[in-house]
Amino acid sequence: ESYRNASKHIVVLAFPFGTHAVPLLNFVRQLSDACPHTMFSFLSTQQSNNSTFPKNLDKIKSFNVWDGLPKGYTFRGNLHEPVDYFLKAVPRNFMKAIDVVVFETGKPIDFLITDAFYAFGADIADELNIPWVALWTASPRALFVHVNSDIIRHYVGINGPKDKPLHFLPHFSSIRVADLPNGLTSGDIDAPMPALLNKMGVSLSRAAAVATNSYEDLDNTVVNMLKLRFSTFLNVGPFNLVSVSSSTVDDSHGTLDWMSKHEAASVVYISFGSVITPPPHELHALCEALEECEFPYLWSLRGSPEKQLPLGFLERTSSKGKIVPWAPQQKILEHPSVGVFVSHGGWNSVLESINGCVPMICRPFFGDQQLNTRTVEVVWGFGLGLEGGTLTKEGAKKAMKLILCSQEGKKMREKIRVQKELACKAVKPNGSSNENFKTLVKLVSNTYHQ
Ligand code: UDP
Repeated sequence: ESYRNASKHIVVLAFPFGTHAVPLLNFVRQLSDACPHTMFSFLSTQQSNNSTFPKNLDKIKSFNVWDGLPKGYTFRGNLHEPVDYFLKAVPRNFMKAIDVVVFETGKPIDFLITDAFYAFGADIADELNIPWVALWTASPRALFVHVNSDIIRHYVGINGPKDKPLHFLPHFSSIRVADLPNGLTSGDIDAPMPALLNKMGVSLSRAAAVATNSYEDLDNTVVNMLKLRFSTFLNVGPFNLVSVSSSTVDDSHGTLDWMSKHEAASVVYISFGSVITPPPHELHALCEALEECEFPYLWSLRGSPEKQLPLGFLERTSSKGKIVPWAPQQKILEHPSVGVFVSHGGWNSVLESINGCVPMICRPFFGDQQLNTRTVEVVWGFGLGLEGGTLTKEGAKKAMKLILCSQEGKKMREKIRVQKELACKAVKPNGSSNENFKTLVKLVSNTYHQ
């Protein structure tokens, strides 16, 4: 059994919400392939492990940590509530689980890898006297604003004017206060998540390396600033291009066949990620826009479309559209028929759009989504935000028409195609992500528990 026979033991602490554990696990699988004689213990909540952890991994084993929920807790729709409970339970739940892991395996821990959200990773690593690598699963630009939150707060205050540009940060003059993650300069800055992220900047400078799921050319100037900030800042992505995952695509709803019946670059693909469903009036606005424009659409929508969408919409558009509860998104975006991606601007979605060379329309909700949206629109130029930041019938129509039917849309497609080439170059032998990954493997391989 290779997990138990390994000579080195790495413990991995995942953030169990949104699409965080998946890229961390992809990263760990890639490391596992590159580091023989190393076993990985992957710690997340039971719910997260159940949905993200495949059964048959050789040298990586999952362990459950307590989710912090009170007995009998029922989810009532506030997405932040389970996160806040979980953050009250950390790091004690992880420490407890680490003890269990060491006891069960009989192997001391040589190395710690965590989601970069976990500022306490520095303290756990110190206590165990081992090195720590933090994986930031979002964009370098989002990392940059978090590790500079004190400076930003100093210049713009708390709850100051929203349209103020961040001109005091180099290469941020096109980003506004409104684009910053909630809790950074507005909202409840003392809530558990913003408080943790605020501590992250100082903690991450104690990490042996900070890695990220991006590639250097995507936001080079920001990457260079972060390299000055951290001793070892390594862009090792995008994971969707390097991923070792060989799992077969689940397409039980026949979306890829359906895509194949459509013309090149004609289909609107809609998905707001794994967590969010837009409010009813915005869903309705999007439906009206789709119906009036008569664009074919594929929509990944959880819940019950009959109840959530306007009366008769499904029947009236049945020859034009397809709605599924979950889609093989990466494959859909790689399909030649897809023409535009209506998204919440989640980081994995941005990377998958680049991989498929599909321009985006972003309706951001929380976290880094506003910043990603703004960057997609004004820094990279391969997509659009929406006027007022929300979905309206006219706004959605205008954006879809621009991307699918205009010269400007073609230019966006060209811009994103250039990004795809840069991403491919980065993960090739001698490419920046590939070289950065080798640096990381050396770091991990040369460490033995004293
Ligand atoms: N996803 C998918 N099928 C769906 C909806 C989403 O495979 O129907 C995947 C998508 O490919 C991406 C992830 O879920 O990898 C969403 O990640 P992102 O960072 O964009 O958003 P989050 O889920 O964290 O809000």
